[in-house]
Amino acid sequence: MPNIRNFAIISHIDHGKSTLADRLLEFTETIPKEKMRPQFLDMMDLEREKGITIKMRPVRMYWKDKESGQDYILNLIDTPGHVDFGYEVSRSLAAVEGIVLLVDVTKGIQAQTIGNLELAKQQNLVIIPVVNKIDMSNARTEETVLELGSLLEVDSAEIIRISAKLGTNVEQVIEAIIKKVPPPSVKIGNIREIPPRALIFDSKFDSFKGIIAYVRIVEGEISQGEKIYLMVTKTEGDAKEVGFFRPDLFPQQKISAGEIGYIATGIKEAGRVRVGDTITIQSLINQGISIQPLTGYKEPLSVVFASLYPENPDDFDLLKDSLNKLHLNDAALTFELESKQALGRGFRCGFLGTLHAEIVSERLRREFGLNLVLTMPQVLYKVIYKNGKESFIFSSSDWPDPSQVEAMQEPWVKLEVMTPINYLGGVMELIKSISGNYIDTKHFGSGKSLIIYEVPLREIVVGFYDNLKSITQGYASMNYKVLEFRSADLVKLDILVAGKKEEALSAIVPREKAFYEGQIIVKKLKELLPAQLFSVALQAVLYGKIIARETIRAKGRDVTAPLYGGDYTRKKKLLEQQKKGKKELKEKGEVRIPPKVFLEMLRK
Ligand code: GDP
Ligand code: MG
Repeated sequence: MPNIRNFAIISHIDHGKSTLADRLLEFTETIPKEKMRPQFLDMMDLEREKGITIKMRPVRMYWKDKESGQDYILNLIDTPGHVDFGYEVSRSLAAVEGIVLLVDVTKGIQAQTIGNLELAKQQNLVIIPVVNKIDMSNARTEETVLELGSLLEVDSAEIIRISAKLGTNVEQVIEAIIKKVPPPSVKIGNIREIPPRALIFDSKFDSFKGIIAYVRIVEGEISQGEKIYLMVTKTEGDAKEVGFFRPDLFPQQKISAGEIGYIATGIKEAGRVRVGDTITIQSLINQGISIQPLTGYKEPLSVVFASLYPENPDDFDLLKDSLNKLHLNDAALTFELESKQALGRGFRCGFLGTLHAEIVSERLRREFGLNLVLTMPQVLYKVIYKNGKESFIFSSSDWPDPSQVEAMQEPWVKLEVMTPINYLGGVMELIKSISGNYIDTKHFGSGKSLIIYEVPLREIVVGFYDNLKSITQGYASMNYKVLEFRSADLVKLDILVAGKKEEALSAIVPREKAFYEGQIIVKKLKELLPAQLFSVALQAVLYGKIIARETIRAKGRDVTAPLYGGDYTRKKKLLEQQKKGKKELKEKGEVRIPPKVFLEMLRK
């Protein structure tokens, strides 16, 4: 039986997970030196450009322990740190027995250090505490060690001090994984007594091999060529290929209990392969052997909703197909058909946050060649009507007639902000401005506080994090958990561009902030819209009344510029043409809003 250790690296964003993974890939000679590049496992272009990990990434490595001379298999999963990708973390954790908890010694414990640690504790995983970046000149190594020690209630001597960048002490991390993380409990036997079961924790579309299921084999073995069965979706498939991640697909004859690997299912229909489903062997089902499906995952709770429409209505089918394929690789994304007069046919999508929304629309553009309009992400509202009926409002364009509304509710969250004490005042000020309820403050060793508030989710989904970062020069961090729906007093602001209502820009705001918000929106829009050939009014309208207005002044374009010399008649002709064009555009009253503007509006 091979010595297997399955573990994930978790931390707050930017504390060095992917860099530590680099060193592990290097030390275990998984990646040859000449192919190595920083954050090797951030394989998507988007991840490399943004410098963040979006996807969890499994990889299998080999290691010979120097002391005992024993051979080990190390299955690592690198994870994203941003709160919007928490579902990737929680699914990774279900595939491993231990975690490396990494803390940056220039930053100390931050909000997602605690958030992700809580996830690991719920799964009873072994925790290897490590502090990173000890090479940096502003390192506060011993303070961070004390901070982490008191958080985990472990002795300072147990905390490993590394530089993932330079490789310092990284071997100690490997030794600790081998010593402390238990091997997976492995049962392989007669397949009738111990039927093979594999848990799908991720997947990916492949047009040749069918959908590739990323699995943790819990019991038994699955071989290449076998007929397989997906228990929840009741779908038959072929194990066209099975193997490991190195980190690219690396085919094997079979994969066995305790391992992390993949099964190319031969299935092409996206909805048939779902994370959390159990893969077993078809013939056992045919023989009527009872097999218990594995406990899957809790469905993630969509936090914000936005609609996606293809810029070109002919792309609707492509969008549908692309969403289904993307969903295989982004299980937190939800979507439902929607059609709006102004926009045509599209999808109402649920996301784990606005960064998630942005990443999804960007992936659809890059990976599927789609140009899209994304409406303003907003939270889910609940309306209770005077006739007693209730409904959820996903989009401001579905906002009900206020005369029929008895009461309104919106989701609240528990917000945790971690900040150095010297920024405490500014942070408190910021949180007070969003009308929440103060709950608690916890102090951590070296001058750091965790402030806990309950606030409406609406207040923090857009812009709050950026404000928090700028107030604290990047030192504060946040995390949140959805609580429940609570009563709210909200109104809908319509936004008119050149007199035409732009549904995609309308916003739901608290009644008492409507005027302020209206002004902000039209000001921002004025900055973002490109120059127009005629002057354009931007108006915010509340219940039919204009409450804010800005004007984009006409900007003439010198259509005669390409002409040199004194050809007066041609010049005159061009100017006449321009006048005519302007008039026509003005009559149509059309201002084309580039899709980019909708996204930029989010960063207000
Ligand atoms: P992740 O978000 O946790 O995956 O963090 P990354 O591995 O992407 O690292 C974030 C940044 O920290 C990158 O610019 C790394 O080069 C840098 N970094 C990571 N580890 C170290 C380290 O040990 N020393 C120094 N000086 N920089 C590091
Ligand atoms: Mg990373």
